[in-house]
Amino acid sequence: MKSLIDQLYHTNDLDAENLLQLLNNLNDKNTLYLHRCADKVRKANYQDKVYLRGLIEFTNYCTNNCLYCGIRHANCKADRYRLSKEGIIACCREGYHLGYRTFVLQGGEDPYYTDQKICDIISNIKSDFPECAITLSIGEKSYDSFKRYYDAGTDRYLLRHETNSRELYDYLHPDMSYDNRIRCLYDLKTIGYQIGAGFIVGLPRQTNEDFVRDLRFLKELQPHMVGIGPFIPQKDTPLGRYPSGTVDKTCILLSMIRLLLPKVLLPATTALGTLSPIGRKKGLRAGANVVMPNLTPANVRDKYSLYDGKMNTGDEGAQFLAIIQEGISHAGYIVDMSRGDHLDRQYPI
Ligand code: SAH
Repeated sequence: MKSLIDQLYHTNDLDAENLLQLLNNLNDKNTLYLHRCADKVRKANYQDKVYLRGLIEFTNYCTNNCLYCGIRHANCKADRYRLSKEGIIACCREGYHLGYRTFVLQGGEDPYYTDQKICDIISNIKSDFPECAITLSIGEKSYDSFKRYYDAGTDRYLLRHETNSRELYDYLHPDMSYDNRIRCLYDLKTIGYQIGAGFIVGLPRQTNEDFVRDLRFLKELQPHMVGIGPFIPQKDTPLGRYPSGTVDKTCILLSMIRLLLPKVLLPATTALGTLSPIGRKKGLRAGANVVMPNLTPANVRDKYSLYDGKMNTGDEGAQFLAIIQEGISHAGYIVDMSRGDHLDRQYPI
């Protein structure tokens, strides 16, 4: 296994057969070696910097019915909310004063926010905070809508592909189309966004073969960001009684992604932090270099319940910046509050 890890480390590539071989046969010692290699590559590209992004979850209304997700349309127990434009800008202002220079606006697929409303929100944030980057994460849209958001000032777009296995995708996403999701990612790239793809780890029916497809897909797509996190059940969803994914498997996949895409911006996600108090620290040690604290107002924050236990990390709110910074420094990294663009996309200031 060590020679396969070396090959991955030196060439930043490994074919499907060898990736599967690695995933099927890693032991504790090899896993540690894999993490060390990934950490070295992260360091060579980004030194010890960990970028912080302020996350604003502005609506939990959603027209989709993803089997795993707590804000799915059919979940009538979800207590729905929307933030107004002023509310969203207030979150940005608070974040700005705390030092954040990237705002991630995430939500369900909510038709209330027409393209015009989204563009208005984006251009207002851009005029108030011109040096900040804006990331949108509001699901699948047409090429024209993506283009309008981009022209209004959106810099980045996160759209996890969720799984690159068509059969698994179809099972998890009734009335959605795998082809359309992939089409969106390529459209976003063509338009000029820094794009983020990614997948969930530990879904029911998911196998190592599926992960190999995810990894090969990412290598081909060459996204600027990759978000992966463990599946965590939400009790009011059809997958509410399935077991969670694991921190260990997520960390192995984080390391593989770091080695396949050396310059990628790779978050240690909230879901990883939810499964274990040291989950995010483990993620950073495995090659991650981004953390996304939550700027969502406290009175609605626990309603954005994609999965159970989301709020149990304690240090989740961006207001607990000092605690977050201390955790990151304690793990041996340096907090960087700048925009944190991808290395190929850094603009002169
Ligand atoms: N509507 C947007 C944002 C979706 S929520 C979009 O379609 O992109 C953000 C991410 O949370 C999803 O992409 C999914 O990967 C993740 N997620 C949702 N439910 C989850 C669960 N139960 N466990 C782990 N991750 C989950």
